[in-house]
Amino acid sequence: AAKADGRGVHRFYHENMLEGAQTRKALEDDLRHALERGELQVVYQPVVATGDARIVGYEALVRWQHPVRGPVSPADFIPIAEECGLIEPIGEWVLHTAIAAARQFANHARVAVNVSPIQFANPAFPAVVARALAAGNLAPERLELEITESVFLNESASTDAMFASLKRLGVRLALDDFGTGYSSLGYLRKAPFDKIKIDQSFVRGAAISGSRNAAIIQAIVTLAAALDMETTAEGVEVQDEIELIRGLGCSHIQGYVYGRPMDAEAAVALSRKGFAQPGGYRISRAPRI
Ligand code: C2E
Ligand code: MG
Ligand code: MG
Ligand code: MG
Repeated sequence: AAKADGRGVHRFYHENMLEGAQTRKALEDDLRHALERGELQVVYQPVVATGDARIVGYEALVRWQHPVRGPVSPADFIPIAEECGLIEPIGEWVLHTAIAAARQFANHARVAVNVSPIQFANPAFPAVVARALAAGNLAPERLELEITESVFLNESASTDAMFASLKRLGVRLALDDFGTGYSSLGYLRKAPFDKIKIDQSFVRGAAISGSRNAAIIQAIVTLAAALDMETTAEGVEVQDEIELIRGLGCSHIQGYVYGRPMDAEAAVALSRKGFAQPGGYRISRAPRI
């Protein structure tokens, strides 16, 4: 058996790694054709105002329906797209698709689009955004670009120039997954963010009394308010968390409790209602005491 035999263990892992590499290569090959074959889709998750659950916008999230494997998570295929030069065409397609959807949203709901650090590093990116806005005839303030802390890893003069160009276009900027990356507060001083998105790992368990996560969320909210930035709590799943987030003063909420990502048609219909209803993804995750 593999456990008892050193060589067996080695062979077992080796074969697994090989299979992993083959899967990865196969996925890469398939991803090259996914766009043209219409296998990619964009879905939209509501972002609501904390006070009254008014829908202020939607985050656009890409999906890949693989013809054989079924749905592949963006957490799995975006890194592949980034490594093999496909993130720019895919990212541009998501931008155009999301802008076309936003044109149909009622009540001026915005759309937020995730931007890969690779797109952000290309000096031509602002022109790509400008072209997409013009093609979709969308007011720039209805587009929000979500950027992660990783764009500051190789910070240079061109990082500052990119922020300046994007701001000149009039689009909104959000700092995504805040607190999970190589957090440095230095960039909050310079970068013109309109919003900080607090990563769902801080929301998870924040409703448990004595949680350090609640203290961290509180500190981020205070910091954001002082810098005149909004805050969205990501990954809010249950009613207890809504109450907690409201108490901590976050301006916006995004999470399964108000809606899972949905297709454009459903998002347009929901935007006409204007408000989301809290569902309950699970009954409660609060501990029984
Ligand atoms: P993200 O930008 O932080 O997006 C939020 C993720 O949290 C989404 O996962 C969303 O479905 C999930 N989520 C929302 N509410 C809840 C909740 O209440 N509970 C839980 N457990 N999860 C929740 P998704 O759609 O799988 O996307 C994962 C990541 O893939 C995104 O994280 C983003 O980094 C990346 N991604 C997705 N679409 C794109 C895209 O078009 N371009 C790029 N560059 N990255 C994308
Ligand atoms: Mg995002
Ligand atoms: Mg996020
Ligand atoms: Mg994330």
